[in-house]
Amino acid sequence: MKRCTDCDKGGVLSPRTAENSREVGGHLFVAFLPAQACSSCGKLYFDTNVLERFELHVAGKLADAGVSTGPAFRFMRKALGMRATDLAALLDVSAETISRWETEKRAVDRGALALVGALVRDTLEGRTSTLELLRALREPRALAKTIQLDLSGDFARSA
Ligand SMILES: [Zn+2]
Repeated sequence: MKRCTDCDKGGVLSPRTAENSREVGGHLFVAFLPAQACSSCGKLYFDTNVLERFELHVAGKLADAGVSTGPAFRFMRKALGMRATDLAALLDVSAETISRWETEKRAVDRGALALVGALVRDTLEGRTSTLELLRALREPRALAKTIQLDLSGDFARSA
């Protein structure tokens, strides 16, 4: 049984749904999340994976709304769990450029925003297609002279 690490009494933790929020660029995002509450002091504990999922959903809202501010871009990058240097390598820009976007010394590039938004959407929906496209651009695969495509699945129903 887990106990509170925050109070002297070491109260027992029990499951409960609790509100959590994130503020990004003047917008407050609020959600009810699974948590553990201390029976003694009432302190709430949220699992890291729950908070990461919440932040990913906040990033998704920012992407869907087309928010293009530096703080929104930074929030989306962090929600993806990416370091600035990792994202810079994927987007073929310098880490300094990422920093300039995030600190609003320069407007965030729209293409970069679209890609980061797509990475957020993919992650929410359990896909990796955008990440794979970006990786392929970094390390192109050898492509044969002739490539046979199998489209039978696409047209089976309409036939
Ligand atoms: Zn406590």
